[in-house]
Amino acid sequence: MKKIIVAGAGHGGIAAAYNLAKKGYDVTVYDRVQKEEDLGHEWQDFFHKDALTDSGFPACEVGMVHRVPISFYGPDKDVPPIGQTVKDDEFEMHMYRKDLYAHILKYSKEAGVKFVFGCSIKKPLMLGNRVVGFETSDGEKVIGDLVIDACGINSPLRTQLPSYLGVQNKFLRGETIFVYRAYYNRLKKFPEIPNDYHVYFLNDGKDGMGWIVTNEDSVDVLIGKPSPFTKEEALSELERYDEFAPHRGKKVLLGGGIYEIPVRQPLAIMVADGYAAVGDSAAMTVPIVGSGIANTLKAGKMLADAVLADKNGEYSASTLYNYEAAYYKQLGSSLAMVDLIKILLQNLTLEDLRLFFASGVVTSEDLSFNSNEASLSTIFANIKPSDVVDRFKKVGKNKALFKKVLTLIKNIAILRRIMLTMPKKYNEKSLAAFADRYNKFFASLVK
Ligand SMILES: Cc1cc2nc3c(=O)[nH]c(=O)nc-3n(C[C@H](O)[C@H](O)[C@H](O)COP(=O)(O)OP(=O)(O)OC[C@H]3O[C@@H](n4cnc5c(N)ncnc54)[C@H](O)[C@@H]3O)c2cc1C
Repeated sequence: MKKIIVAGAGHGGIAAAYNLAKKGYDVTVYDRVQKEEDLGHEWQDFFHKDALTDSGFPACEVGMVHRVPISFYGPDKDVPPIGQTVKDDEFEMHMYRKDLYAHILKYSKEAGVKFVFGCSIKKPLMLGNRVVGFETSDGEKVIGDLVIDACGINSPLRTQLPSYLGVQNKFLRGETIFVYRAYYNRLKKFPEIPNDYHVYFLNDGKDGMGWIVTNEDSVDVLIGKPSPFTKEEALSELERYDEFAPHRGKKVLLGGGIYEIPVRQPLAIMVADGYAAVGDSAAMTVPIVGSGIANTLKAGKMLADAVLADKNGEYSASTLYNYEAAYYKQLGSSLAMVDLIKILLQNLTLEDLRLFFASGVVTSEDLSFNSNEASLSTIFANIKPSDVVDRFKKVGKNKALFKKVLTLIKNIAILRRIMLTMPKKYNEKSLAAFADRYNKFFASLVK
């Protein structure tokens, strides 16, 4: 029987493992954590309610909430925030990451997936052009017919694959965000402050953002920046948020570390002979918000479908490319487009942000997308043709910003043309040519 090995217990790797094991495949997941309870972060995350069922897992009864509207705050305190409007029937999961892991592990183990913990993966093992396994830090060689790379953003496999495979090893500056996240105790002397979700753009686009989420008994804070920063720097930046969050106590209840999230276009090439990347390793988050749980779960199911369709068990770049093509068709192309908006945001100065917040260039409807439907068409769907002229006039008051918006429009057109050159079926040369265009285009934007 063919042996499938999953490197890292990332969510998409587990979704692929579960769907394959259900069909009788021999699948083993390897992770560096010492025991399954150590998997996942400590905090709660939002993701679309259908992600579990779309990826083949049974639905989860715990954690379903009406989507929490976000209020976006600009740099000026006297300008009111722009609040999202949320439809009555919009629900999402708000789950502790460990509960999510408990849910998907329970069903995966029942389906026959094997888990090996305490296994630190060091590097990929190659036989000719084929990825055949990985070596662990203990020098053990783990060999399989297919290696699924679910090791996250700094995967020791993706980052060390030979360049001739065409899989991009390194993510560039601006393509990832470093975040400090912690849950603090909530001071009881401010009972009037409602439970709410606030996102702040106090700095210019190059210097990041922050959020304060007020829960019943805790205050969840996040500071995000495009370059690495220390915990001390995070704590000093956090003081700037004190005036918005007087109810934040000083005791850290959960988290308190610095983490890195990919916020970029998906990998141009995510497969090779014997290898497929999924999740953060393949950069599958929604670039403007960094949400990746739903996309990676769904991608895991798409990967399993491509493996099941490969009746001869070749697991070659050619057969695995059906997974990549399906991912791009359903999600990846839209996400790459959305990355252009993130690039615009990163280029905004304080003056640009002030105009955005104060002048009505951006409205509540524009910001009311959810992470499951973040595409340019949903983001722009609310702009009526009659609005366009009015908004251009407002933006036109700031020449530099006007130029940035025109650049965004030009880049959308360029990317559309590049995406048309992505092969529908595997062809080594055409795929390499597409990847070259796509990677050079994005590299030129984040320079
Ligand atoms: C602060 C923060 C908040 C977030 N909030 C949200 C949210 O609200 N909603 C949302 O959808 N997404 C959110 N995300 C993003 C989300 O966590 C990821 O996009 C998603 O988990 C997909 O990542 P993954 O499963 O591919 O990788 P990961 O979650 O990083 O999992 C990788 C796994 O590989 C293992 N591993 C790594 N290296 C090795 C090695 N060398 N050897 C063995 N094992 C290894 C790790 O132990 C880990 O178990 C957030 C991320 C962060 C950091």
